[in-house]
Amino acid sequence: MTPGLLNLSEGCAFRTRCTRADTACVVEPEAREMIPGRTIRCFHPELDLIA
Ligand code: SF4
Repeated sequence: MTPGLLNLSEGCAFRTRCTRADTACVVEPEAREMIPGRTIRCFHPELDLIA
């Protein structure tokens, strides 16, 4: 279930629904360029889905 936009928790917006969420995800991740031209905001990305 998606959270209401008026009641988002702190940290990553996917934290309450993500199977990879951990204590790092309580803060909003910075944007990182994982491969040229592809930027993500995730502490634990599934790299095979990015390529
Ligand atoms: S693993 Fe990535 S998508 Fe999942 S809660 Fe953490 S930062 Fe968000």
